[in-house]
Amino acid sequence: MTAIPAPADRYCVFGNPIAHSKSPEIHAAFAAQTGHAVAYEKRLAPLDGFAAAVHAFIAEGGRGANVTVPFKLEAVKVAQALTVRAQAAGAVNTLHFTDDGIIGDNTDGAGLVADIVNNAGVPVAGRRVLLLGAGGAARGAVLPLLEHRPAQLVIANRTVATAQALAGQFAALGGAGVVSACGYADLAGEFDLVINATAASLGAELPPVPATVFAPGALALDMMYGKEPTVFLQFAARHGATVRDGLGMLVEQAAEAFALWRGIHPDTAPVLQSLREQR
Ligand code: NDP
Repeated sequence: MTAIPAPADRYCVFGNPIAHSKSPEIHAAFAAQTGHAVAYEKRLAPLDGFAAAVHAFIAEGGRGANVTVPFKLEAVKVAQALTVRAQAAGAVNTLHFTDDGIIGDNTDGAGLVADIVNNAGVPVAGRRVLLLGAGGAARGAVLPLLEHRPAQLVIANRTVATAQALAGQFAALGGAGVVSACGYADLAGEFDLVINATAASLGAELPPVPATVFAPGALALDMMYGKEPTVFLQFAARHGATVRDGLGMLVEQAAEAFALWRGIHPDTAPVLQSLREQR
């Protein structure tokens, strides 16, 4: 008698738009590598129908989901419990449907730091870090960065009050003396790691950061990824920095989500390499 294979456990990514998402490809590679029976699809949720789309997926037997633009804040409300890092980020990119209810997590920041430390081989510990932007992506990055004990973490933002509020939140959570905030015009000194978490790259704009921020040997990382280096990465390279786009972060945040759902952390290196070769 031939054994009937167990049906695959179902996961998806919700977004609007969603056609561009590489998450199904990444999770299919993780499933093949680990031998887990996983089916992962992309779902376009209506702008006014995210919660309903999540509950419909659960009713169909869905086990978990990723969440992308513009639903990461709404996903906080859909979750019945939040991990510490999701609470700190104030945003959810991963939902886990468990017997105890819907758990909301945020793997973006951990993915960013894993890419910097493990893939780029650049330690955060003891380094001077400059984080550009204070939106959702920046918020998710602060706690994972602080956990690696940088010497300094400066958050610079166009709207200075948002950066100050973010720095204040983390100063109260053990980042006092390490984390501070300022506007671009007040940026002084050099940094070993400069992370662009602004949405400026989406419009091919450069955040107004002075060229003097890049210390000798600095790593500049743009959370955005695309076929060509962003204007920020071009600027950073012209001023001596080593540059890195957000593709590694994307793969690493997916691996963190896979680990949460499946209890096994996949090997990200071959998946990242294959995505890079496709470009
Ligand atoms: P948000 O809209 O939440 O935040 C946008 C931030 O960018 C704000 O700090 C805003 O400043 C700043 N900003 C926007 N335009 C400019 C500009 N022209 N000059 C300077 N600052 C600007 O976006 P997210 O935080 O969700 O996303 C930010 C970036 O991160 C995007 O490029 C996104 O694609 C990327 N990302 C990548 C991920 C990955 O896996 N690689 C995961 C998540 C995000 P202000 O407060 O003044 O408006």
